[in-house]
Amino acid sequence: MPAEKTDAVILRVVEFSESSCVVTLYTEGFGKISALAKGARRPRNPFDGAIDLLSICRIVFLRKNVDVLDLLTEAKLVRRFRSAATDLHRLYAAMHVIQLVSSLTDHAEPHPALYRILVRTIETLDSGGPVAETLLQFELNLLAELGHMPALADCVECGERVNKAGENSPVSFGLFNGGVLCSRCRPGKRGVVQLRSETVKAMQRLSGQDPDENIADCEEYESGENPMLVCEAGRSISPASRGEIRGLLDQYLANLIGYRPETSQWLRRVFTD
Ligand SMILES: [Zn+2]
Repeated sequence: MPAEKTDAVILRVVEFSESSCVVTLYTEGFGKISALAKGARRPRNPFDGAIDLLSICRIVFLRKNVDVLDLLTEAKLVRRFRSAATDLHRLYAAMHVIQLVSSLTDHAEPHPALYRILVRTIETLDSGGPVAETLLQFELNLLAELGHMPALADCVECGERVNKAGENSPVSFGLFNGGVLCSRCRPGKRGVVQLRSETVKAMQRLSGQDPDENIADCEEYESGENPMLVCEAGRSISPASRGEIRGLLDQYLANLIGYRPETSQWLRRVFTD
């Protein structure tokens, strides 16, 4: 039974017994794991207050066989989500982030790039970064990393360029087709929503996939040790487009997960206040 060391974000904590809990973590080296933390609920415990939602920790755990929980033996706090006590919007956004990671990833499938995006997003939300934009950017990056990124530039059916630079007509997006549709491919499709041209452009910018944008237009957003790249243009998304992207991603993610995560209801306040 080898002891493994890795960095991790705490996604979920469930009481297991009077003194123990089961912790779900997204780790850098091993993807999502669930581990028993014995004694974690005792006042004096070996985890020293590290076991808390959204905490970033350095952990040691013993890997067990399939169908048996791993055993968490050490957790040292690297960073606590401090905004939890002071800013409800930041907390809602961060809770949504960990809910999505929890719902869309499988156990024990390492994905270090996703881990880094997760940590960067939590740090940005916790250190004054723009909440709505950071969240939208995270969701699009998550979809891209997991191979679910919708087609935004070219028609998902025939590959023709849709929403060319300088064009402002509304763009059709096929929720079940997984991307934008040109006027020839659109007829007869179910689940098609109309988006403003600027909304699709904003999604392309947020995901770093705008074929017309120069990467030099972006600036580094400093956040702890991990700078987050936020496009200047991404910060100036109009409220109408932000609302459209929110609505689209809510439906798209609900289709993917199979249900609408509870946390997506909380986001309305983040996006309207
Ligand atoms: Zn087409």
